[in-house]
Amino acid sequence: MSPVLDSAVREAVAERLRFYRDLGLAEFYRRPVPLELQAALEAASVVAEPVSAPMQSSARSAAPATSEERASVPAAHPHQAASAPPPPNFFGEEPAISPRKVFAAPPEIAPAVPVAEHASALQLIRDEIGDCTRCPLHSGRHKLVFGDGDPNARLMFVGEGPGADEDAQGLPFVGRAGQLLNNMISAMGLKREEVYIANVVKCRPPSNRTPEPVEANTCSPFLFRQIDVVRPQVLVALGATAATYLLGARQPLASLRGRIHAYRGTNLIVTYHPAFLLRDPRQKKEAWADLQIAMKVLGLKLPKRRE
Ligand code: URA
Repeated sequence: MSPVLDSAVREAVAERLRFYRDLGLAEFYRRPVPLELQAALEAASVVAEPVSAPMQSSARSAAPATSEERASVPAAHPHQAASAPPPPNFFGEEPAISPRKVFAAPPEIAPAVPVAEHASALQLIRDEIGDCTRCPLHSGRHKLVFGDGDPNARLMFVGEGPGADEDAQGLPFVGRAGQLLNNMISAMGLKREEVYIANVVKCRPPSNRTPEPVEANTCSPFLFRQIDVVRPQVLVALGATAATYLLGARQPLASLRGRIHAYRGTNLIVTYHPAFLLRDPRQKKEAWADLQIAMKVLGLKLPKRRE
């Protein structure tokens, strides 16, 4: 028998593994990392050692000259200060992030940015990311997907990472999963332009695989800063990867759903990823229940009809 699976079987297995992953059963299966990727990850983990490095450089380059400027520019995270030692990661180990260590500790919350300056503060973050080569994902990227929507949104969604459509357009959630997310947003009585949407990683992982820890940990500090600027009243984590890297801990999705988590000064709700709902539409009811918790917090009325 050939050791190579035919493409239909491979796709079926991949689909099943995605299903388990979306349920938060990431430990169920772990792909062996090919040697050449392992080498790249090891190299990247050295580059990524202080996760806050990109922020530190911007703190220098974008440092405001006057106290008024300082007041109007989003304050640095506490561990941006050159003298402050980086915090330990989630396991209380050294701050270096290796592929074996899964989660960086989310940085402390940045001080609030005046509402009128949210858009420019987001632009500063985008400028700082630049033509990013901080992790291996840059090599397959067509367009970096920063985020999209209202910089003053009361509701923000966080997904995992761009897929093919997003990579082509440079916008989050514009493919099939995006269509479903749009439906979810309109079921809540909102327009897509009224919310803010971003991802854990800003470049498409090859074959839409789950981002590796070194990739997510290198990219997610920018996401945390986006969250701190937008300061939504409700943050919705779409799927296990978003929940894991936001909360800094891997837990089964079932244990996180259905309640409000106090998180970065806002209310975090965890629900299924739209791509998972496309694969298992029976779970839409559960996702809708999660979104209704968000609606309650936002003071939104249930629309009369929902798709
Ligand atoms: N899935 C995600 O997690 N993010 C996107 O932007 C698109 C699909």
